[in-house]
Amino acid sequence: MLQISGLSKSFRIDGRSLPILDIPSWQVEKGEKVAITGPSGSGKSTLLHLISGIAVPDKGEIYLEGQPLHQMTESQRDRLRSRSIGYVLQDFHLIPSLTASQNIEIAMNASMPAKQRKTLISEWLERVGLPDRAKHMPSQLSRGQQQRVAIVRALVNNPPLVLADEPTGSLDWETADEISRLLLDLSSSRQQTLIVVTHDLNMAERFPKCLDIRELNRVRKHAEHPAGREGVQEVSNG
Ligand code: ADP
Ligand code: MG
Repeated sequence: MLQISGLSKSFRIDGRSLPILDIPSWQVEKGEKVAITGPSGSGKSTLLHLISGIAVPDKGEIYLEGQPLHQMTESQRDRLRSRSIGYVLQDFHLIPSLTASQNIEIAMNASMPAKQRKTLISEWLERVGLPDRAKHMPSQLSRGQQQRVAIVRALVNNPPLVLADEPTGSLDWETADEISRLLLDLSSSRQQTLIVVTHDLNMAERFPKCLDIRELNRVRKHAEHPAGREGVQEVSNG
C-alpha cells in the first residue's frame, strides 16, 4: 500500500534549514492498522502531509498503491488524494453553514444520482450512530458527533487509505474511546489501510500495530525543542 525510502523533509526557519524527518525506510501493507505516537513537534503531521501529497519531500521516494507520489505534479497528487485517501483531522473541519448531510455530500462523487447519494448518506449516518442528525448544523452537534460526521465524510467514497491526525485530540476520554473503536471497526470491515497519528495512548493501544515515530525517524530534535547542547541539528546544505 505504502512504501517509503530515503525520505527527508526540512523546513527553513530564520534562514536555517531544520531537519524534521529522515526516514530510511518504512512500509505499510494493504489493510494494516497502524498507530504512530511521538511527542509534539516530532514530525507526525508532516509525515501524513507527505504521504497524502499535501507536502513534498526534499528527497526520497513515496509509493502509494505502487504509484510514485514523489514524481507527480501537484494536480496529479491532488487527484490521487481525492481518489485514494480519506483524511480525518483533530478539529473536524466541517463547514459551519452546511448540515451534517451536506457536509458529507460535498465529498461525494457528483456523478452519483442525487437519490442514491441521499440513501448512502442515511446508511452512513445510521452506521455511525447518528440516524436522526442529518439536518443538524455542526454547531448543533457535540464534538464527538461532529467527528463522526467528519469520519463519514472521509470514508464515504471508500478510499483504500485512511489517514487520521490526532482524531481524538479534542475529545473527552470516553468519546475518544468510541471514536477510536469506530475508526478501527469501519476501516476493518472494508479492508482499508488506516494510519493514525496520536498522543492518545489509549487509542494507540487498540491498534494491532503501534510505533513511536522515533523508531522510523533519525531526526531527534526540532525547532520546538531546542533545549540542551544536543538541541537543534543543523544541516550543511541549508
Ligand atoms: P507533530 O505533528 O508531531 O506535532 P509537526 O509535523 O506538526 O509535528 O511539526 C514538526 C516540526 O516541524 C515542528 O518543529 C514544527 O514547528 C515544524 N513545522 C511544521 N510545519 C512547518 C512549516 N510549514 N514551516 C516551518 N516549520 C514547520
Ligand atoms: Mg501534529
